[in-house]
Amino acid sequence: MRVEILGTAAGGAFPQWNCACNNCRRIRRGTFSGEARSQLQVVLSGDDHAWFLLNASPDLRSQIEANSFLHPREGLRQSPIAGGVLTSADLDQVLGLLLLRELQPLQIYSTAAIREILVNDNSMFGMLHRVPKQAQWEDVEPGKTFELISPGGEKSGIECLPVVLSTRFPGYVTPARAQSLQPNGALLGLILNTAQGGRLGYFPAVPQLSQELMEHLSTVDVLLFDGTFWTDDELIQVQGSGQTARQMGHVPVTGEQGSLQLLSGLKRPRKIFVHINNTNPMLDVSGPEYGRVREAGWEVAEDGWRFEL
Ligand SMILES: [Zn+2]
Repeated sequence: MRVEILGTAAGGAFPQWNCACNNCRRIRRGTFSGEARSQLQVVLSGDDHAWFLLNASPDLRSQIEANSFLHPREGLRQSPIAGGVLTSADLDQVLGLLLLRELQPLQIYSTAAIREILVNDNSMFGMLHRVPKQAQWEDVEPGKTFELISPGGEKSGIECLPVVLSTRFPGYVTPARAQSLQPNGALLGLILNTAQGGRLGYFPAVPQLSQELMEHLSTVDVLLFDGTFWTDDELIQVQGSGQTARQMGHVPVTGEQGSLQLLSGLKRPRKIFVHINNTNPMLDVSGPEYGRVREAGWEVAEDGWRFEL
């Protein structure tokens, strides 16, 4: 299985258009030690031929253009992108689908709840259904492994196990609508593997770390994990008000019950933070926060990282 990390930032990217935090100001001035980042996007393939997206970022168009293995290969209209898996209906994870509306057949895997929110409640997603067999959706269930299959029926050899992480839907879903949806379809993490290869854990938004979840994480070889915020009160410190990291659905990197502490005993996987918010001080590779993360055995992903599993 080949895995390519096209983007590594949380929503808003780095720098974020309306942000003048310490990180964003310095990277615009050219005085920041670290890389700019597009919004999180991971793609994978079992055969280098058909590629599957893990979610669909708002930066997807430029991410495709920047990576020639995702360019059309034969014929006038063609794409190596066969489809993808959605882990939530959050805008940062699904807006890229609307950028793929040029009548390309796509196989999309999501829970029934995520599909209903997007396809039934948001009429713009009708652009993915203008002709028969344009976007084909398949409902998946937490705890049940499925294989990624191209729209034409070709098997990828990649199996995917969805894991429930939260029963909370995105803010644009009204409480009344949320009541009518299967709660365990709101937010997933994914474990992906091929028959002979290693196992990838994809967990970019983790509200809390349960014992059951930690057991799942201990089975993977490479873990892509929620690195959104350094501290629980990070945005409050920067903006003077707002929500905590946990209120926004992200366990912070540091502090009591932060990911560094809770996952310190996790020895098997290579541990990599993704979905990093532009305010997070660990983006600065010359800073003490970055040093602390590296000393703890973690890596901070950059756009363009790739590996074979
Ligand atoms: Zn910023």
